[in-house]
Amino acid sequence: MSRLDSFLRRLQAQRDCLDHAVALIGSLPGPVFELGLGNGRTYDHLRENCPDREVFVFERKVCAHPDCVPDAEHLFEGPVDKTLAAARARFAGRVALAHADLGSGRPDVDARTAATISAGLPPLMAPGGIIVSDQELSFPAAEALPPPAGVQPGRYFLYRRLG
Ligand code: SAM
Repeated sequence: MSRLDSFLRRLQAQRDCLDHAVALIGSLPGPVFELGLGNGRTYDHLRENCPDREVFVFERKVCAHPDCVPDAEHLFEGPVDKTLAAARARFAGRVALAHADLGSGRPDVDARTAATISAGLPPLMAPGGIIVSDQELSFPAAEALPPPAGVQPGRYFLYRRLG
């Protein structure tokens, strides 16, 4: 498969998994967390598809399309291990949907990031809340969910926080 085809499949899987997660949370109350703003594409998709929810962004250094930069009240800027810890007092047990897209393409860095997310996200999630991730995570307090139809297992990952 060409790298272009692979890239397109990755983006399609990402979009399909986000749409699936939005449907899964249904009317579960709570905000959305976007970990990894990047260019702002998935942030834009989430805010468009969750118009009644607050969307909070976690990003080391904002460098997104100007239309996709959250206001200061919805931005946690800095390394995610620090910002997730800082968010805990305010959001513990309340987040309905979290999307982590922090992959760098460097296996050693990504393994550390996955460990950070696996430890830092669960205490923030509401029971029944959904985590969508570009990397496989390890959550004792969550069940892995199958991807939606059309998304190859292992391409993108979904988890539900147990009650
Ligand atoms: N979802 C984005 C989009 O649709 O445009 C792409 C995200 S990009 C693949 C990954 C982003 O995660 C980068 O902007 C990078 O700065 C951020 N990032 C990676 N590791 C991080 C960390 N440990 N703490 C905070 N941000 C991090």
